Amino acid sequence: MMIHERNDKIWDHMKADCSKCSGLCCTALFFSKTDGFPKDKAAGQPCTNLLNDYRCKIHSQLEKQKMKGCIGYDCFGAGQQVTQVIYQGQTWNDIPDRSTEIFAVFINVFKLYQIRYYLIEAASLISAQPLKESIQCLIEENIKMCHYSPESILSLDLEQYRQRSNHILKQVCKLLQQSLHSEDKKVPANFLGGNFKGRDMSGANLSSKLLIAANFEKCLFHGTIFLGADTRDTNFNNADLSEAVFLTQGQVNSAKGNRNTKLPCHLDYPSTWK
Ligand code: SF4
Repeated sequence: MMIHERNDKIWDHMKADCSKCSGLCCTALFFSKTDGFPKDKAAGQPCTNLLNDYRCKIHSQLEKQKMKGCIGYDCFGAGQQVTQVIYQGQTWNDIPDRSTEIFAVFINVFKLYQIRYYLIEAASLISAQPLKESIQCLIEENIKMCHYSPESILSLDLEQYRQRSNHILKQVCKLLQQSLHSEDKKVPANFLGGNFKGRDMSGANLSSKLLIAANFEKCLFHGTIFLGADTRDTNFNNADLSEAVFLTQGQVNSAKGNRNTKLPCHLDYPSTWK
């Protein structure tokens, strides 16, 4: 049974293109060494490895240097929207007196892109067709907001938009599980570091679960919901994630896998997966 409608075009604009950004994630965000970044850094300070042309000095060594935070981060394309569209190519370096504003706009646009990513996938789910119109309205509202002026973006009531989107996404998950007759599917209380090799995880709702370092080698994830699951060091070697739901590039980048792992068609194989 197919879970998604196939339409690659819907994912346009949802992939990060660092060449069109100005290192916003490496500058705007707070990060810490314990989370797999080079060192503790305050929000708004450029990482010491960020070059003048906004490339990363150690990009080819991120894996070797165990920069898991850097490898795992994905902005869903928010960085290029802020740099190229909202600020029309002007960067925080070009207009330093507006850098604080640019970083705050990036954080809001990132939140909107993250929600849009889930809504786009929701709209592609065959089981969610009864909600398609409401989902589409939320997507269109989202796109409009991401084209507002910086001042308007900073005064958005994002919490209210997030709540409306979450309400729909919950209904989407329910419809999906109903279509797979998996509403009552039991999942282990604790996945941390556990061994689930070869299990059929189809239809399970793993939303917000801590899957850190769990072994899912050769598992099947047909219609499995990954909304907000923590997949750091999760082993997906030889697993079939091709019809996984709400799986993000960041979750994939944070996990372990190989070239035999099957991924949804809109996600890329991390360079660390051999
Ligand atoms: S090490 Fe590279 S990728 Fe990581 S935050 Fe610094 S500049 Fe960005």
